[in-house]
Order: sequence, then structure tokens, then C-alpha cells
Amino acid sequence: MQTLTLRLQLHRPTKAKESLYRELTSRVTALANNLVAAGRPRKLTSKTAMGYAPAKIPSAVLNQAIRDVGAARKVDHFRQLPPSFNNQNLRLQKAGDLWTVSFPTHTGRVRVPLAVTGRQEELLSRLGTTVKQGAAKLYTKRGRWYLALSVTVQVTPCVGTRTAGIDLGLRNLAVVNVDGATLFFSGDRAAYVRRHMADLRRRMGKAKALGAIRRMKDTEARWMKDLDHQVSRKIVDWCLARGVGTIRMEDLKGIRLRRKRERRDRGRSLHSWSFGRLQSFIAYKANLAGIKMEWAVPRNTSRTCPVCGTTLKENRSGVRFRCLSCGHLGHADAVAALNIGKAISGLAAA
Ligand SMILES: [Zn+2]
Repeated sequence: MQTLTLRLQLHRPTKAKESLYRELTSRVTALANNLVAAGRPRKLTSKTAMGYAPAKIPSAVLNQAIRDVGAARKVDHFRQLPPSFNNQNLRLQKAGDLWTVSFPTHTGRVRVPLAVTGRQEELLSRLGTTVKQGAAKLYTKRGRWYLALSVTVQVTPCVGTRTAGIDLGLRNLAVVNVDGATLFFSGDRAAYVRRHMADLRRRMGKAKALGAIRRMKDTEARWMKDLDHQVSRKIVDWCLARGVGTIRMEDLKGIRLRRKRERRDRGRSLHSWSFGRLQSFIAYKANLAGIKMEWAVPRNTSRTCPVCGTTLKENRSGVRFRCLSCGHLGHADAVAALNIGKAISGLAAA
């Protein structure tokens, strides 16, 4: 079982619908803050809770809001509490090629179209069989409206028996090794784009174009996230095609250490690359495909010879690995991926 959140975009809501969603959100938020101000009264029913609402809220939404307030015990003020719907009140439906969703609002139930991606479509089509629908939240971001739908996916364990090791870094964002076969994702393009963007921002900074700078940072962040999605997708597909049943990566704490070391080689502007996100994307896609994840202790992975087992700092020089004991030659990152796959320093506690 794997729980995940599908961010379903509402397809081009009308101005009237948008203001309806905004109004419902503000009513739910006001209700939440009133409940907090009243000392979070217990044993509320939808009738007594309605007394804390500024205006009508459908009881299904009200009950979910009470639950959400209860779950956020430490929050003393809600800037915004999105309306949420449980699996009985939010209904997804497909008519022809179009997915629609219906949910209750203070002016009655609405049914609206969704803009779904291919991957979302694949999961939605399994609703009621191997995918179970959970609660959904209605929210807005960058002028668009979404439903964050939580689903539980039944995963069939992968039949593969091989183990892949993945080394992450800046020179190569990722290097994957399965029994000697290696897949490289160069970090050059990422480095180039990030430097280029940083250059542009510096020049714009002089012109005090702060709004434009912020927009560029957003663009860059989206670009990086997209790259992490592409790389993780390719890695998992590549592993599936090679009969991999287990993927090993270094425990995150170790990657931070290595990042510090590589920072010196690759320039200041690159250190903020998010390995944590790339790792979590890989783990997420691997788990959905039924591949098991294991975390290796990140010790000596780039200085141990995969042939004779000798560990020497001097075995590695930049991209080159040359064992001083047996003479084995290799690419340093590929050697690291191989050693991670073998978990030469053991597995980290789960
Ligand atoms: Zn050796």
C-alpha cells in the first residue's frame, strides 16, 4: 500500500465558480478561527458547529473542517483552511474522455471538469479497484484551482531480483549501476542553466527589477523540479527494464557531506541543488512500481575498489578511479554507484 496525493487541476473555472470557491474557503477559514477562539469546543455536532460559522457551510464540508481543526492542534490562527471533502462527498466520474468531479458548496453541489495528466488518468482509472479514494482539499495556487486528492494505491511487489545502486552528485546528477551496466545523468545542463539564470538575475538586480527576479526564480525552481521528475522517471524505467527489485541510495545525511566536498569543485551557485527531492522522487516512483528501497551508509563509497576491496583516499582523483592496489580503472561516480548497490558500508537503519 502506498499513499499519495494527486493534484488535480480544475479545468478553466468560470469567474463565478472561482468566487464561489473563494467564498467557501473564507467561510471555512472563519469557522476554523472561531473554533480556535472559542477554545476548540469538544463534541461538536454539525448543528452546534454551525453556530461558529459566519454563514452557511454544507454539513459535509463543516464536518471535515472540524476534523481538520482538530488535527492541527498546534495552529492558533489559520491563514487559510481549504474546504475538504471525504470520499463520500467528492465524486469523480469519467464521461467520454473527460474527467469531472462533483462536491458540495454552500450554493449546492457543483460538477466541474478536470485537466488530468496521463499519470493521474492511469491512477484515476483504477479508482474502486486497486486505488482507494481518500479525502480531497480544494485550494488555489498561481491563479489556478486544484483538488489535492489523497489516494491509497495497492502495489504488487516487483518480480525483479537484481539490485541497483544510485550515486547522486553535481558533476553527474545521478549515476545508476546494475551489475556493471551504468546509466549517467550529466549535471552539465543543470549547472549551465543555473549559472545562466544567476547571471541574468545579477544583471537584473542592478536594474532593481525585483518582480522579474522573483518570476525567474520561480521559473528556475519549476525547471529543476521538472528535471528531477524526468531523471527519476528514466531511472525507475531503466531499472524495471533490467529486472531490478531493489534500489539502493545513500542515506541523505551522507549526501549533504559529499555535497559540501563537491561544492569546492563546482562553484558556489550550485550547492542548493535539491538531492533530497531527487531521492524522494526516485523512491516514490520506485515504490509505486513495486521496487524496494534501501538506504546505504555513505562511507567510502567513492574510494573503495570494487574489484579487490581496498579502501584508499588516493584511489580517487576527480572523475578518475584507479586502485593503487590492483590497478582497477573506472569512472569515480560509476564506482560509487556500484559500491552503493553492494552497500559496502552496510545499510542505514530504516
Ligand atoms: Zn583494487
